[in-house]
Amino acid sequence: MFPRISIDISGYCNAKCKWCVTGWNRQQGYIKQQYMSYEAFVRVYEHLYQSHIIGKNTEIMLYSWGEPFLNKDYIKIVEYLADKEQTFAVSTNASKVQLANGNSIYKNCDIFIFSMPGFSQASYDYIHGFNFEQIKKNIKAISKNLLESGFKGTGMISFHVYKFNIHEVEAAEQFAHSLKLNFNPYYPYFNGNSMTEMYLEEKMPAEMRRMAEKELYLSHVKKLLSERPKNYRCFLENILSIDCDGNLVLCCASDSGCADYTWDNIFEIASYEEMQIKRQEMLRSSTCEKCRALGIDYWMEKNPSYVKGEAHNYV
Ligand code: SF4
Repeated sequence: MFPRISIDISGYCNAKCKWCVTGWNRQQGYIKQQYMSYEAFVRVYEHLYQSHIIGKNTEIMLYSWGEPFLNKDYIKIVEYLADKEQTFAVSTNASKVQLANGNSIYKNCDIFIFSMPGFSQASYDYIHGFNFEQIKKNIKAISKNLLESGFKGTGMISFHVYKFNIHEVEAAEQFAHSLKLNFNPYYPYFNGNSMTEMYLEEKMPAEMRRMAEKELYLSHVKKLLSERPKNYRCFLENILSIDCDGNLVLCCASDSGCADYTWDNIFEIASYEEMQIKRQEMLRSSTCEKCRALGIDYWMEKNPSYVKGEAHNYV
């Protein structure tokens, strides 16, 4: 059984993060709104389970590139997973609220993440593009609903530390603790291997590169990449990823701008053994080769954690 699998129940995101491939700035205003219906999700789940590709303890991440709460069937999908006693995880930007009806639908949710790009309206204007006060209200409402709905897992705020919002970390931490949420500040990097490739291969347009270096902590990256052991293998090798159409995709770090992104439809893979063979084939793809050669896999896993007072080391 695979330990973790991402099923992207929403194929789109409403946030405008400029360093993420789904961000509106990169999509030039175009977003195709698509999602996996409840019926389609059940078919995919039953196939994965009956083929022994996943088990009850496999963590199903209900997200990858999309925002799960934009899926109108979100609650039905979570109710279904509760009924199946299936472990799952959620990450949301908290721009939309869907609440459970007081039953125990979150009892098998082991991780619930709220991602925040700052703790002020100015930071939200700059990255997500949402109303900050509304986001705080939404996080409070969803957190309360989680606790009323049997949630016993780890709830956390994942705070993206940019150069322009570092003074907001403390206020965000207090907010997290007031809701009994863990607080995980981290330095974001490019979200999507196609953008990371462009940066590391020095193919990023000059103005875009200048902006990236102005906003993201990147000065440590060259040294970090030089420390990558030759035989290093990335942690995503054992994690599967399925898009909202039920297609197997290379991994949750690669994106549609990468070569070899989309593979077979999951219904074409009949067993765990077939899945293992396919996974090995995927890991020999040109995108994986390039990812290893550039050290993107190592950067993703070894990017330093934010430690209070140490940000000056990473300019
Ligand atoms: S090597 Fe890179 S592209 Fe391949 S699975 Fe790992 S992170 Fe994804």
